[in-house]
Amino acid sequence: MSVYWNHRVKTLSPYVPGEQPRDQVFIKLNTNENPYPPSPKVIEAIQKATGDTLRLYPDPACTELRREIARRYGVGPEQVFAGNGSDEVLAFAFAAFFESSREALPILFPDITYSFYPVYARLWDIPFAPVPLALDFSIRIDAYKKPAGGVVIPNPNAPTGRALPRTDLLSLVRWHGQVPGTVVLVDEAYAAFGEDLEMAALVSEYSNLLTVHTLSKAASLAGLRVGFAIGSEELIDGLCRVRDSFNSYTVDRLAQAGAEAALRDAPYYDGVNKKVIATRNRVSAALRDRGYEVIPSQGNFIFIRSPTRKGAQFFTDLRERGILVRHFDKPRIADYLRVSIGTDAQMDRFLAACETEESVGLGLTNS
Ligand code: PMP
Repeated sequence: MSVYWNHRVKTLSPYVPGEQPRDQVFIKLNTNENPYPPSPKVIEAIQKATGDTLRLYPDPACTELRREIARRYGVGPEQVFAGNGSDEVLAFAFAAFFESSREALPILFPDITYSFYPVYARLWDIPFAPVPLALDFSIRIDAYKKPAGGVVIPNPNAPTGRALPRTDLLSLVRWHGQVPGTVVLVDEAYAAFGEDLEMAALVSEYSNLLTVHTLSKAASLAGLRVGFAIGSEELIDGLCRVRDSFNSYTVDRLAQAGAEAALRDAPYYDGVNKKVIATRNRVSAALRDRGYEVIPSQGNFIFIRSPTRKGAQFFTDLRERGILVRHFDKPRIADYLRVSIGTDAQMDRFLAACETEESVGLGLTNS
């Protein structure tokens, strides 16, 4: 606490990102990065953009990038907003569409979800009311069908990996469409790893639907920081108004060039992500066979509970065996770990570490 901090900064509770170790000793399964490299065409495009033009500011409107996104999702470029990672896009969306007044209706999001949502809400003084997940960690969609300041749903949800069918989300978008001004934000950070979840093509029909996307996971570009939103023109204009009151040049030249190339190379990424999905399904089955609880996942990660170990102990055991995963010390999920899907070789090492862990937990070895 510092006397120089204003009231807002004093009351913030900032997001704590997953550990980013500086050495390579760990198998890193803790921040849902893609284990496969970006398309070679992305690297080539970034190299080509590295030169004298870096003197110049980037295109603030991300014109070419928005055109590529629009082509990929079957929408118009005017229905697309690009930003510096989807975290930034989410922060702008909270600032643009949710009221920050004590009298305002609270916004709704799940109680167990991406932990940045309450952080943004606090940053902008937006009242929020977390909605409890069902006992099996599924989102109870009907619980969100009540007057609200807005709704935020990640599909698939994180850290559980559970997804809702598109029809459920659509019923929610329709329900809130009856009340002018209520935005339903669907965070599709992991939708590319799910079965037929994407909703962006519907934004022309529903002016209150905003979908938020990232190239960090499905395009293996967490280091490039590119995210985007798709929505009606009036929602996109709202995001531009916030951006241009904050920083007009959020997506740099190299990021725009790399992101454009990534969007143009769908065949490469389809191949990569099919591998991630196959590995996820294989590892989920192997863990279930060994008595682990594995929440059915449609993301590039799994949420699991050991049959023998408390979550904190399981986390420490894996860490000691060189495997970094994510543990959230929170009510209801303290005994679960979120494990990002790595390469097959990495996941075999993980499974082997779980095996050792099981025998230790059952008192079969002393190691
Ligand atoms: N939404 C969800 C649900 C996430 O898990 C993440 C990744 N931490 C993000 C958004 C942000 O991704 P990025 O800023 O890398 O685009």
